[in-house]
This record gives sequence, structure tokens and C-alpha cells, in this order.
Amino acid sequence: MPGIYLDHSATTPVREEVFAAMEPYLRTHFGNPGSIHRFGRETRRTVDDAREQVAALIHADPREIVFTSGGTEADNLALRGTVAACKTKRRKVIVSSVEHHAVLQPAEYLSKTDGIEVRVLGVDAEGLVDVDELASLIDEETALVSVMHANNETGAIQPIEPIASLCAQHGVHFHTDAVQSAGKILLDVRATPVSLLALSGHKLYAPKGVGACYVRKGVDIVAQMLGGFQERERRAGTENVAGIVGFGKACELARREWQPMAARTSRLRDALQAGILERIPDTYVNGPSVKRLPNLLNVGISGVEGESVVLGLDVEKIAVSSGAACTSGSLEPSHVLLAMGQSHARAQSAMRFSLGIGTTEAEIDCVLEVLPPLVERLRAGART
Ligand code: PLP
Repeated sequence: MPGIYLDHSATTPVREEVFAAMEPYLRTHFGNPGSIHRFGRETRRTVDDAREQVAALIHADPREIVFTSGGTEADNLALRGTVAACKTKRRKVIVSSVEHHAVLQPAEYLSKTDGIEVRVLGVDAEGLVDVDELASLIDEETALVSVMHANNETGAIQPIEPIASLCAQHGVHFHTDAVQSAGKILLDVRATPVSLLALSGHKLYAPKGVGACYVRKGVDIVAQMLGGFQERERRAGTENVAGIVGFGKACELARREWQPMAARTSRLRDALQAGILERIPDTYVNGPSVKRLPNLLNVGISGVEGESVVLGLDVEKIAVSSGAACTSGSLEPSHVLLAMGQSHARAQSAMRFSLGIGTTEAEIDCVLEVLPPLVERLRAGART
């Protein structure tokens, strides 16, 4: 599809190498990994190879990887699965206010159906949590803390190392949603003692509908999907073999390439940011200036609705987002920006540019040509 795609936080295209790795498993290599004959044994081996590739990206043991249908299911499994397995009196869960709904809604569900106490950890104006505030909330009744690694709207990178250590000191499970950070910044579960971690294939150039939950050895979870013995009884259902193969390949590529890719996208992102701030008056960056994903820029443009800018750019064949993809279309301002203390009007003026592997300098130049006159037109229209 022709056009400029700057919405890689919503989803990414499947890389050629990934597609090529998957293709045989959609055609000739169709065995069920649960079958004991040669067709089954072949795909079982392939799934296990992919498990190693996914594990290697985060420096985990392959046995700690549970394949899921994506990030949402991984987050659900992490929250609901660990709380269900908790045999002690621990009945409290702490989540940050800027989590994706894939974490917030399971937490709400646990509160409504199981009477779990859910405490919400606030963020500062840059969208970062305060570890001291978390320390004041954790107690001997806490079962789980869930703080995402990087935010999908602002790119804010949370201090997961001290959070993981704090949780470990209190014997509390720590889950981090690494859907947006995997393949973009360093992720090492040997250095950071997280208990659980969510990954999603389609954010790192694999197809949609596949992901994984990392479950540290020794952490008990109760399967949330029942009906089979797959994934060592942690997730029932015949494996999405082709998706898993693609996910494995994408993780292998990301492990090799994330550093040069981060350097490249951050250079282009910084040029885009500087150009917007310079050429369009009354614009500001939402999110931290330093502790931010290399490929993401969220800007507020005073006096216009982010949604109108997205539609205006779409006419010019430029794809961006006015917030998280799953909430766009709704008129509710982003819960992330509200949690950062922004007014409704300010939150609604936000838009997100997320760069990817194929983004070029020429594309950034084109956005910088098209955006200022568009904003001027929208501002003039809003005044009349
Ligand atoms: N968590 C975060 C931070 C996300 O950005 C997303 C998707 O946008 C998800 C979870 C859900 O992942 P999936 O689309 O694979 O279900």
C-alpha cells in the first residue's frame, strides 16, 4: 500500500525474512505438534526452535516461554494466572495508572469477581512511576505488581530494575508488559528479576495473533485457557505453528539488529521532533525527553484535535495515530495523558508518530512539509 506509515506502535508489517520462514508451515509442513508421527514431530521441533529464539531475545530459558495469541492474552495470563495460583493470604494487586487496557481490565475483573484489592500507582508529568511511592504501597498482602516496561502512547520507559528488586525483596511477583519495548531496547531477565513479562509478535515484524508470556522458573500460574496439555499445561490449544515460527524469526532478527535500529530510528525521530517544535508554534512533547523509546514521538498541538490531524494526514497518505490504536475512534481522551495530569483538551490534542525499520529521511521531510500547513488550516477552521 503506498504511503508513509508512522504507526509502528499500533502494528508493524511482517518482514520478508519472517514471511519466508513461515511459509512452509502454511503449506507443506502442516503437522500438529501434538501428533507423535513424523509430521507432528517436525512441527514440534520447529516450535521448540522458535521458543529458543524468543527466549534468547530476553535472555530467558526456553522453558520459561509460554506461547499465547498475543500481548493481551499474555497480560491476562500473567495477572489472572498468578493471582489464581496464589495460595497465601495475599489479596492485593498494584498496577500503574498508565498500563495498557490488557492489564487494567484483568485487574478490574479480579477486583470485581474475586474481591482482589487493586491499588493504582500514579505517574509524574512525564508519565514515569515513582519507586518510592510503590514502596509505600507494597505490603505483605500484595500478590502482584504490574508496571509496563515502555508505554505505548508516550514511549516512557519505566524504572523496572528497581521495581523488580523491590518486589523481590517483598516476595511479590512483578509483571512487566514489554510489548512495546521488546526489540527496541535492552531486555534481560537475568539482570532484572521480573517474574512475568508479556510479548507480542505484531509489534516486532511478526504476524498478528501470536505472542508470549515469560514465566520465571518457580513462579506458579494457573492456565486461563483450558482444554489441552500444550505449553506444559499453562496454555491449552493447538499451537499457531506458522505464527510461532514467524515470531521466533522476528525475535532472532530483533536480537541481532535492535541496537543499530534504535540508533537509526532515534536519529530520525529526533529530526521529526525538532522540525515539528520549530515549525509549528504551541507544540510540546508528551513523555520523557530521555527515558523514552527510540522510535516514538507523542506531541501535543494546541488548539487542534489529534484525531483531526490524523484524518488530515491520512488524506495525504500519511498514517499516524492520535493515541493507542485500540482507543482511537472513541472520543475519550487518553487515560495515559490524563494520568500525567493533562487537561482533557490538552490530552485530546495529542498525536503519536511511531517510526519503524523502513522509515526514511525523505518520509520525515515529507511529514515536516505537510504537517505545518495542515495544522494552520485546522487552527483557522477552529477559530471561525
Ligand atoms: N500491551 C501493550 C503495551 C500494547 O501496546 C498492546 C497493543 O497495542 C498490547 C498489550 C496488546 O497486544 P496484542 O495486540 O498482541 O494483543
